[in-house]
Amino acid sequence: MVVGAGLAGVRSVEALRARGFGGEITMIGAEPHRPYDRPPLSKAVLLGTTDSTVVDSDLDALEVDFRPGVAATKLREGVVETTGGELPYDGLVAATGASPIKLPGDGPQQVLRTIDDALELRARLTAGTRVAVIGAGWIGAEVATAARKAGCAVTVVEAAAHPLAVALGPVGAHTAPWYGQVGVDLRTDAAVASVDHGGLTLADGSSVEADVVVTGVGVRPSVDWLAGSGIELDNGIVTDEHLRTSMPGVVAVGDCAAWWSRRYGRRLRVEHWDTALGAPDVAVATLLGDEAVYDPVPYFWSEQFGHMVQYAGDHSGARLLMRGDPDDGGRWTACWITGDDTLAAVLSVDRPRDLLQGRRLIEGGQRIDVDRMTDPAIALRDC
Ligand code: FAD
Repeated sequence: MVVGAGLAGVRSVEALRARGFGGEITMIGAEPHRPYDRPPLSKAVLLGTTDSTVVDSDLDALEVDFRPGVAATKLREGVVETTGGELPYDGLVAATGASPIKLPGDGPQQVLRTIDDALELRARLTAGTRVAVIGAGWIGAEVATAARKAGCAVTVVEAAAHPLAVALGPVGAHTAPWYGQVGVDLRTDAAVASVDHGGLTLADGSSVEADVVVTGVGVRPSVDWLAGSGIELDNGIVTDEHLRTSMPGVVAVGDCAAWWSRRYGRRLRVEHWDTALGAPDVAVATLLGDEAVYDPVPYFWSEQFGHMVQYAGDHSGARLLMRGDPDDGGRWTACWITGDDTLAAVLSVDRPRDLLQGRRLIEGGQRIDVDRMTDPAIALRDC
């Protein structure tokens, strides 16, 4: 049985069949929709170039008993309690993703997690509408991009000193000029105290007037249904490197799973598409009794203010070096290097080849020539 019908859920069904599992598969999903991709929600859907992002997967051919609009409410060993009654299982994939955090205040605040959120928000992004986006993270930047394209007056309010501070540290500051370049008013060091009718109140007592408030301050793993089940939870569903949870016969994948990374020697929970795509095959192998380890170099991308931003690796504890000058307005790459001169992480801006080659260097773990690496004219693979 698969709980959660997002990308990780549907990939789990596909992986079960690909590995020759011939038994019954039930997949339940809280949303009334067929599984769909979320990355285009803040890009093509908000920009109005598509209305549907349904995953290209033939549920009939997969012979899955798909039950949309059915949510799991509780788990005990061998049985999932759902809004549609109890469902027994022999093996279970938990793939319930994550839910957006909302801020205090009784004013209306939009979040962007579902296709319904995206279509509702898009309808409100009309020329002249005053839009306040809370959070200059990945989602905030993409929403601001789309809102400006729609002709809205956009203010982005960020509690940190610069955009992407949590995700990238100081490197995020290099994206700050992009906001002004398209006419977005970026206000940093500005914590929101409350979302009110007609806008926001900031911690310093000032206010930002807005017709639409979009809150993009992060997500929490959707694990309420597991409360009281006895399954170990700690910032998501705790798993080992095989994606096995503490409850027999239960594996976890995607945004809700905090898995043990052999590569990094600590637990990771990665809220990115590539994880939802790749983890299910390992989880399902584990469920079927095969030996498999999930040990990727995390990867994601973002499209914001006309730039393609891509990141691979994990930069914690590594030292930063730049390839190319962000202040030149051109394409650049940030590389994080470990103490023994291996590449820990790479962030490329409009340099997709750097990302590709950097990702391979990270996976390979070989030493690199750091001096050559800072020269953007030299291919990363030749460093
Ligand atoms: P989800 O996609 O969240 O699916 C989980 C499903 O489970 C949901 O449909 C939910 O309704 C359902 N569910 C929850 N609780 C229950 C329950 N109790 N019972 C039954 N069903 C339940 N990543 C990138 O790498 N690059 C990007 O550019 C990018 N852009 C993004 C843009 C947006 C707007 C969003 C929201 C995400 C973006 N992501 C991006 C992240 C990426 O989409 C997620 O990492 C991915 O969707 C995770 O897939 P998942 O299947 O684990 O979870």
